[in-house]
Amino acid sequence: MAEARRLKHWGWGYEDQQPAHADVEAAAAGLRAHLGFGADDVERPVALADVELRPPRIEPPRPLAEICRTDAYERAAHALGKAYRDIVRGFRGEFPNPPDVVAHPRDEEEVAALLQWCADAGAAAIPFGGGTSVCGGVEPAFERPAVTIDLRALDRVLDIDADSGAARIQGGATGPALEDQLRPHGLTLRHFPQSFEYATLGGCVATRAGGHFATGPTHIDELVESVRAITPAGVWESRRLPGSGAGPSPDRLLIGSEGTLGVITEAWVRVRERPGFRASAGVGFATFAAGARAVRALARSGLEPSNCRLLDPAEAALTGAAESGALLVLGFESADHVLGPWLDRAIELCSDHGGTLAGEPTLREPGGEGAARGDAEGSWRDAFLQAPYLRDTMVAAGILAETFETAITWDRFDDYVASVRSAAEAAVHEVCGAGTVTCRLTHAYPDGAAPYFTVLAPARRGAEVEQWDEIKAAASEAIAAGGGTITHHHAVGRDHRPWYDRQRPDAFAAALRAAKRELDPGAILNPGVLIDPEPA
Ligand SMILES: Cc1cc2nc3c(=O)[nH]c(=O)nc-3n(C[C@H](O)[C@H](O)[C@H](O)COP(=O)(O)OP(=O)(O)OC[C@H]3O[C@@H](n4cnc5c(N)ncnc54)[C@H](O)[C@@H]3O)c2cc1C
Repeated sequence: MAEARRLKHWGWGYEDQQPAHADVEAAAAGLRAHLGFGADDVERPVALADVELRPPRIEPPRPLAEICRTDAYERAAHALGKAYRDIVRGFRGEFPNPPDVVAHPRDEEEVAALLQWCADAGAAAIPFGGGTSVCGGVEPAFERPAVTIDLRALDRVLDIDADSGAARIQGGATGPALEDQLRPHGLTLRHFPQSFEYATLGGCVATRAGGHFATGPTHIDELVESVRAITPAGVWESRRLPGSGAGPSPDRLLIGSEGTLGVITEAWVRVRERPGFRASAGVGFATFAAGARAVRALARSGLEPSNCRLLDPAEAALTGAAESGALLVLGFESADHVLGPWLDRAIELCSDHGGTLAGEPTLREPGGEGAARGDAEGSWRDAFLQAPYLRDTMVAAGILAETFETAITWDRFDDYVASVRSAAEAAVHEVCGAGTVTCRLTHAYPDGAAPYFTVLAPARRGAEVEQWDEIKAAASEAIAAGGGTITHHHAVGRDHRPWYDRQRPDAFAAALRAAKRELDPGAILNPGVLIDPEPA
């Protein structure tokens, strides 16, 4: 099971992608100059050899030993997700809750055998995809011994139904792995969360992930046709249907189940022809509020822009996307038709709300790959994919860097964004003494939008996790008080529980607990996520 290329045990990307210390220092100096804060000394990550882990408390039975690992790399690399609080702890070599065993099943029979072993041994089982959870979804933060089930060996596209435009894909396939297998057929899943490089299909289904497209079918919910999972009570497989009114949807129970009801091994997903026509433009607005009104008009227009991201003036300036004012990054794509008329109408709608074009719009026809570098959408996309790598450098440079997101209907939009922003800003200033809270709209709906906030602040070495937890709690309280959702696409995990429990109806929580009792009678699957564990 030796790997040629290993993912970092603490941060984003592969070990060979970690820049040399001198490069981290140079980047840190640039960040300090740009932001006006950050530590003078740049820390180095604690090497794996210096990490001390609690010894494993259980041993795999002989028939499963071949697919199980208990070495330090495997346990550390599966001990945390990839939120700021995870990166900080991993960087410092702090792994308070490592799994006791990490299993790499190669087929469903091995998944079922692992669940049976966990039930017999009184251990918890944590389904693990890319480990990119940002809400404590994969950390075994509980007393019981834990077996983490890494699904990444199940990474194949098994079947393509070209007539229906659907593909059967295994749960452990990462974004690039599944796109590479769909590409020769001219197809794409077109699901691009920012964590696309490492997140898996099963993880996305389990967390109701959102892709980066702002409108149209961008949530995994809309792309799933049917799901297959191994539960402790047996196989769960829904029927492939383009639509159905036959009672509550079985898929709806598994989509968003966050590893608490079963291990998702396969899904039939809706795929589409790869787009060749693209159009994009940047539109400037004097204020975020004016830009938001244009976004609302666009979301109701039926134009369905693929990108419709509104950056507030501070975020546009900080990311170098615009020198002043708010910036709307607009994009369209199609496999079928030229997009000039769509873009023209969108620009017209923007100008009705005071928007002015920032630079020349870009139009592409089949043959060109992706958005051009240098255009508004291209620069935004580059920064989007690089941001998680930069966050590792920020940790080394003493900069607190984290995001949180929510959604709200348009009738409450302005007041809500103002109150959440001011609660977060007050907490940042109280906890860190300085810093910024910026906002962008990531997803637009006819009836509302998803504001996404980024916090950058000077971190206090050794106290970063407490600092962030305080800021996050203040922001989450404002979200709950304002009637928005505690998470638009980052899932619930363990970290969002206090606010999620207030958001969901009590009767629904009871129904979910009942479903868990049926499917997972020993309460072995991911205890503490979504609902409290109820051992049989
Ligand atoms: C830098 C960064 C950017 C991100 N951007 C986005 C974004 O744009 N959109 C978005 O939606 N999210 C985003 N996320 C959050 C995260 O990537 C998503 O939640 C993603 O869907 C997790 O996939 P994963 O395979 O890494 O799952 P993991 O992190 O491994 O697991 C997440 C949860 O799903 C469960 N799970 C995983 N695989 C399975 C399976 N096969 N069966 C059952 N349960 C399973 C786990 O038990 C856990 O509860 C981002 C995270 C980071 C760090």
